Amino acid sequence: MQETTNEMRQKRFFLTESEIPERWYNIQAEMPNKPMPLKNPQTGEVMKAEDLFPIFCEECSRQELNRTDIWIDIPEKVREMYTFYRSTPLVRAYGLEQALDTPAHIYFKNESVSPVGSHKLNSAIPQAYYCKQEGVTNVTTETGAGQWGTALSYAAKVFGLEAAVYQVKISYEQKPYRRNMMQVFGAQVTPSPSMSTRAGKDILTATPNHQGSLGTAISEAVELARTTPNCKYTLGSVLSHVSLHQTIIGLEAEKQMELAGEYPDEVIACFGGGSNFGGIAFPFMRHTFSGLHKETRYIAAEPASCPKLTRGRFMYDYGDEAGYTPMMPMFSLGHKFAPANIHAGGLRYHGAGVIVSQLMKDGYMEAMDVNQLETFDAGMLFAQTEGIVPAPESCHAIAATIRRAMECRESGEKKVLLFNLTGHGFMDMSAYNQYLSGNLTNYTLTDEEIERQLNK
Ligand SMILES: *Cc1c(COP(=O)(O)O)cnc(C)c1O
Repeated sequence: MQETTNEMRQKRFFLTESEIPERWYNIQAEMPNKPMPLKNPQTGEVMKAEDLFPIFCEECSRQELNRTDIWIDIPEKVREMYTFYRSTPLVRAYGLEQALDTPAHIYFKNESVSPVGSHKLNSAIPQAYYCKQEGVTNVTTETGAGQWGTALSYAAKVFGLEAAVYQVKISYEQKPYRRNMMQVFGAQVTPSPSMSTRAGKDILTATPNHQGSLGTAISEAVELARTTPNCKYTLGSVLSHVSLHQTIIGLEAEKQMELAGEYPDEVIACFGGGSNFGGIAFPFMRHTFSGLHKETRYIAAEPASCPKLTRGRFMYDYGDEAGYTPMMPMFSLGHKFAPANIHAGGLRYHGAGVIVSQLMKDGYMEAMDVNQLETFDAGMLFAQTEGIVPAPESCHAIAATIRRAMECRESGEKKVLLFNLTGHGFMDMSAYNQYLSGNLTNYTLTDEEIERQLNK
């Protein structure tokens, strides 16, 4: 067998500090069809940025509805903090390719190297920064699996803000180390639903043993932000300004793919609310809009147990259980959706962001649903071939990539596949433990169940 040289097999691609992007990409300004407007939950009126100020900091509110500026400057201080862990590596997955015996070239963007272990920090930093700039002293949020809560707790600490995190009760109980990690960063963590808010009390009165959901935790965090002076709510996914911040991933990847001398035929990401998907896909999608790379495919991988894109309904829906958030035009399973207790906690949200929902409707992207066992099979193979134990969420992107790579093996096509590795799974070893001991099962919703959840 002939050995290839090191030059020919360069595996990791990095950017120098000066090459790290200075602006985020605002896809809203270039979408052929803009998302439909957000609506006031009480009056049904179209919401303006000022209407979001009671909940979010002002700059994030403006970014949320900015449909004119294609590029938005990354503040100097935020970019400096990015440089502490960015650029993240773009890696050619030779080990995985070889194991699959595929002619496809597989690349992944490794966001697991951030100090908190996931891509979430890319948005936590600017959100905390803008709050600080605006004189906010306290931030509040919800967290499911705990990745967002961890990222926000750290970013809040860096900028001298107090953080209060509502963690979905079942995760709070099942993932004590996640809770501890947020506490290490100085956050106050409360299991949701709790008796500390009206929303929490109402939910517990109706359902005393409620296990909590992102919907209940969001209601509580929003209520706290609204009723506490100098306190703002922050969100780690779904919203357009979060995807905006995450475009740092795709903007870097675009330059790194250039270093690798290739361009992706398919961009693949797991899908919770859409922020990492948008983060890696939107910067490439601008070349699809312009006609330069018309054929690129964008694939969102979601859990079969929470299939908002593949089986949900496009409609105006609330972002939370109690109906405090603006009404958003999105693919949804209904805001009272109670997901099965699957392990990809970060993918259990009931809805998709308004940008991705519009892009889905317009056929610019596609979605694939993956069962839990297939995702862990994929995660195991990835760990054994690339040496990184992936987060259960990321395993969905890996599973989708493997499916595409196997199709290439059938057809002989030499496609270039790029997926986003959103996080490592070091805090999720109990899920791997269940998988290894044979205690994980697949869970697919019936049509009747989906219909029932939508009509709750
Ligand atoms: C939160 C999270 C996700 C899903 O969120 P998106 O907004 O859809 O990107 C995926 N992977 C990890 C590791 C996460 O923490």
